[in-house]
Amino acid sequence: MPQPHLMIHIVPGKCDYCGCCVGVCPEDAIELMESKIALIEDRCTNCRKCVWACPWEVIEFHREGVDHLPKQTPHMLNEAVKF
Ligand code: SF4
Ligand code: SF4
Repeated sequence: MPQPHLMIHIVPGKCDYCGCCVGVCPEDAIELMESKIALIEDRCTNCRKCVWACPWEVIEFHREGVDHLPKQTPHMLNEAVKF
């Protein structure tokens, strides 16, 4: 069952798409595409396994929930950084 408040935040632009978080998520709540990573909120139980697994600290845990985070840093999608 998903928690009432999402506490997981994917920091935009930091992901290198290694896939470590996808492998440890017991709920299949992270989707990794070619240049995007997305959190499926309905499935997330805030277990934090993805937070601990990420080698680059891309995924943050916010005990108070992620609703307060600024709109310009969406937690759903991490767009690829263009060089
Ligand atoms: S907090 Fe747990 S359930 Fe949510 S995306 Fe991370 S590993 Fe999956
Ligand atoms: S969020 Fe972290 S663990 Fe997940 S694919 Fe990106 S860099 Fe890898």
